[in-house]
This record gives sequence, structure tokens and C-alpha cells, in this order.
Amino acid sequence: MHFLSRLRIQQLQWIGAIAVIMVCLMMAGSTIAFSLSDYINYKRGVTEFDRFHVALHAAAAISRERGPANSLMSAPEEQQPPFAAALKKSREETDRDVAAIETLFRTEIDASPEMRNAFLAVRAQLEAGRSAVDAVAALPYSERNGARIAEAIQAMFRAADRAQDYRDVAGRSIIAQAPETSAEVILTSLAGTLRERAGRVGSYVVMMLTSQGQARWHYRVAFEGELNRLLEVNALLRTYAPDALQSKDVAQLLDQVTVNYFAGSLPYAQRVVFELNAGNPPTPVEFSAKYVPGMRSTETLREQIENGALTSLEKMREKAFAIMLISTLLAGTAISVMLGLAYVLGRSLFRPMLVAMRQIDDIAAGNLTQPPSMPHAGREVREMFQRLDLLREQQRLKRHLEIERKSMTEELRRLSQTDALTGLLNRRALGEAMRELTAPGADLGGIAVIMLDIDHFKSINDRYGHAVGDLVLQRTAQILTPHLRPQDLFARYGGEEFVIVLVDVTETSARTTAKRLCETLGHAVISEAYELTVTASFGVDWRAQCAAEQWEELAAVADGRLYQAKRNGRNMVCFSDMPVEEDRPYGADDADAA
Ligand code: GH3
Ligand code: MG
Ligand code: MG
Repeated sequence: MHFLSRLRIQQLQWIGAIAVIMVCLMMAGSTIAFSLSDYINYKRGVTEFDRFHVALHAAAAISRERGPANSLMSAPEEQQPPFAAALKKSREETDRDVAAIETLFRTEIDASPEMRNAFLAVRAQLEAGRSAVDAVAALPYSERNGARIAEAIQAMFRAADRAQDYRDVAGRSIIAQAPETSAEVILTSLAGTLRERAGRVGSYVVMMLTSQGQARWHYRVAFEGELNRLLEVNALLRTYAPDALQSKDVAQLLDQVTVNYFAGSLPYAQRVVFELNAGNPPTPVEFSAKYVPGMRSTETLREQIENGALTSLEKMREKAFAIMLISTLLAGTAISVMLGLAYVLGRSLFRPMLVAMRQIDDIAAGNLTQPPSMPHAGREVREMFQRLDLLREQQRLKRHLEIERKSMTEELRRLSQTDALTGLLNRRALGEAMRELTAPGADLGGIAVIMLDIDHFKSINDRYGHAVGDLVLQRTAQILTPHLRPQDLFARYGGEEFVIVLVDVTETSARTTAKRLCETLGHAVISEAYELTVTASFGVDWRAQCAAEQWEELAAVADGRLYQAKRNGRNMVCFSDMPVEEDRPYGADDADAA
């Protein structure tokens, strides 16, 4: 179970589907295999039983030969021709059956000594029996006696015995090949035996009728013996045949045998035997004429049991076929249903689940593009996709807000670094920018710091008001900015004081730039309306290199020089620590400006 829980859902789906299909296939396979083997067995049973039928038939034909043979031997010459014709016909029938046995059991007769010997014994004994019968029948009526007739009959008994032996050997071989036929083989054999015994009972009566004294007593004993066997076989058949063959016809025929034979022919034969010495017994021909018709029902019974056996085997064969067909159909249906279910589950659940998982991964990775919809997903899974859509929408909103927040932060940062009035860097931002510029490892080349302060600014404020003062500050920024390079820094340092930092400049270039800026501002018109111009004083310091901690120093020097420029008369640039011109103290000309 633990192992299963570690598998991916799609693997689980396939393992599950394959397992169920395997179980279905195994169940269906075993049912189909069993019913197929049943079908094959019963089919073989039917074929084998057909062969057995020939062996049975041959044994019955040999038994039947005794009827006309007995009559022929017991009849006077003038009555013989019809019996001779009947015997001829009966013998032809037997010969056909024996030939059929030889054909159908060819393989077994060739391969098995037991079968071969049994078959040869049938032929030899049949030959011997027939010769004995023919010999007696050929004698003049007066020369035929009971003993000779009885001998011939017994020779035919032996032929019938051999035929039954062969029937049993064949039956055994058939049961070995098709065990399903056991009951049918045994019951039909018994039915054959019943017919044979009933015939012999009659034959013994004929023998008694044609013999005297000791011989007659001997036949009487044999008669009783046959009678007992006959009753036993009948009892066995009545007990088992109707149920085993599931045949109402067989049950009816058994009743018919009881009426016709056991309550008709047999009591007649017993009466003849009982009254043998008393009155005038019937002639053998008279006896046969009355005995044989009642015995026919045993023949019909034998045939019926044979038919019943065959029908029962055929029914079993058809049933096995039907079961095989039904189980194949059921298995096919079960497998189709399973495959359909696996397909539908895969389409509506497992595959959408995997897609959902990938979509969640995408959302987590920030890919918010709308994926194609999954129309076959199940209702709940579709709802899950709707929630994913919602999540995606929320993520989009969040991203939008994030972008807004970033731009606002950026704007705030920019504002915090900018002087609101002039749009230049403020003093703090300049400090930061300088720290970055002078960070260890940064090579900027020469660096110049220019400090400038608008001259007599207070008097402008005083004269024109603060708004104009503000305008002067703004215009100063506007006028000077175009003269700087993008990499240069320009900041409002405080009040009306500005700082410009030139990077990567030579000292000369720094001086030139400072002078140009001073002149540019001096010549620029600040306000057309007031015809206002301003000047500024510049202090410059230049260093070939500037470390971070030197920036303040640089600024202080530039500031010092700015004041020197003020003292030297304003509207000028002071590059070095020049002496104060005309020894004027700073602020001495303040009054002039005003
Ligand atoms: P000097 O030539 O020596 O520099 O004289 P000055 O008048 O320019 O210098 P002072 O330091 O005497 O005056 C500076 C004045 O600038 C004082 C202050 O009111 C004014 N000021 C400072 N900041 C602003 C501002 O943002 N706007 C306006 N309009 N005036 C300001
Ligand atoms: Mg000032
Ligand atoms: Mg000033």
C-alpha cells in the first residue's frame, strides 16, 4: 500500500486498469478454457460413442442371428426356406457391422494386441458358430437331435460372448479416451446384455424342448442361471438408466419391457419349462413364434438407451458450447466495460488532474496565460479548473498591484532624492551619489566640485518677492543643466547655493566649464517681465582622484573658494586659494547689490 501511494496518478490508473483487465482475462480465460475443454471432451465423446455404437450393434446383430438360426435348425425341410432367407439377411447385417468395426477401430486393432485378439476371436467364433448351425440345418430333419442343435446354439452363444467381449474392450478404450461417456457406455452395454440374456433364456427353452433326460436338466440349470442374470441386469437398468440419461422415453420403454417381456414372454417361457414333462409342449418354432415378439421390446429398449445416451452426450456438448459462448461474451463485455471505464476515467479525471497539476505549477512559476479549456473533464474537476481560473485572476491582480507599488516606491525614492523646486538632486541625494561615485575600486579619472551661490539673492527676494526668488532658483537650474554631461551631478545644496560635480575631467576642463557656466548664467535672462538677470559666484576644487572620505574635504575647499569669489567681487570663478582682492571682506558690497 505504501508503495502504491508513492506512484503517480497516471501510473496508478494504468496499473489499476491492467490489474482489473488481467483479473477479467484470467476469470474469463479459465471459464472459457473449462467450457472449451468440456466442449471438446463432449464432442470427442459423441464421436467415440458413435464408434462404440458400431461395436454394440455388431454384438446385437450376432444375438439376433440366433433367432432365425434356431428356427432353421428346428424346422422340418419344407418349413426351412423362409428361416434360411431370414438367417441369410441377418448374417449379411452382422457382416456389415463386423466390417464396420474393422474400419472404425483399425488403429486400435493394429496397435493393441488385446483389441486385435478380441476382434479376431469374434470373427473366428462367429465362423465356428455359423458352420455348426449350417451343419445341423443341412441334416435331414430326422437326423437332427437336441444335442446337435444345442451345440450349434451354444457355438453361437460363444460368438455372442466374444462379440460382447469385444464390445467391452472397445467400451473401455472409449471410456479411457472420453471419460464423459462412462455412464452412457455402461448403460448401453447393460441394455445390450439384457437383450442378449433374454435371447438366451429363450434359446435354453428351445434346447430343453429339443432334448431329453440329463441334457434337458442341464439346460434347465443354465436357463435358471440366465434368468437370474437377466433379472439383475434389468434391476440395474431400472435403477440407473432413466435418471442417468434423463430420458422419459427410456423410463417408458423399461415399463414396456416389464409388460411385454417380464409379464408376457418370460412367464410364458417359464410355464413351458414348468410343463415340459406334463402335457404336450409346443414345438421350438411354435415357442419362438410366441416368445420372440415379447422379447422385441428389449431390443427397442437397447436402441432407445443407445439413442438416449447419444442425445445426452450431444446435449452436454451443446451446453458446454453455449457456456463457452456466454462466458466469452460476458468476458468481452466485462473487458469492454473496463476499457471504457478506464478511458472515461482517464479523460474525465486522471488526465485533467495532471493538467491541473501542471497549471498549478505554471501559476506558481508566474505563467498566468489562460490555458485551453478541458471540455471532457468531470463536473467536480471542471469546478477545480474554475477555481484555478479564479486563482490565476487573483495572481494577475496581485502582479498588477505589485507593479504599481514598485512604480510608486520608485517615484517616492525619486521624490525623496529630488529638490521639489528645481528638480535637481537634493543635498542628501548628492551625498549618496558621491558615496557611490567614490566607492573603493571606482576609477572616475579627475573629479571637480563646483560650488555656486547666487549673488545678492536676498535683495531679489526683498525686491520682487519670494515667488520671483523661487523662479530665479528654477531658472538657474534650467539654464545650467544643458551645459552639463549626463554623468555630471547637479544638486541644490541649500538656499540659493548649488553643487556641480564633474567626473572624469582634467583640471583645465573643469576650470573652463566653471567659467562657461558663470558666464552663461550671467548673460541669461531670468524673467522677461522684470528684465531680471542674476549672477553667481563659483568656487572650484579639482583632484586627480577622490576617495570616499575626501568628498567632504573637496566640498569644503570649493565652498571656501566660493566665499573667496564672493569676497573678490562676485560673478566670478575662484579656482585656487587666491588672495582676497582689494582686501575686501566678504559681504562688503552687499549694499551695492541692494
Ligand atoms: P550674497 O551675495 O553674499 O550671497 O548675498 P545674499 O543676499 O545672496 O545672501 P544671504 O545669505 O544674505 O541671503 C540669502 C537669502 O536667500 C536668505 C533667504 O531668505 C533666501 N532664501 C533661501 N532659500 C530660499 C528659497 O527657497 N526661496 C526664496 N525665494 N528665497 C530663499
Ligand atoms: Mg548663500
Ligand atoms: Mg547669495
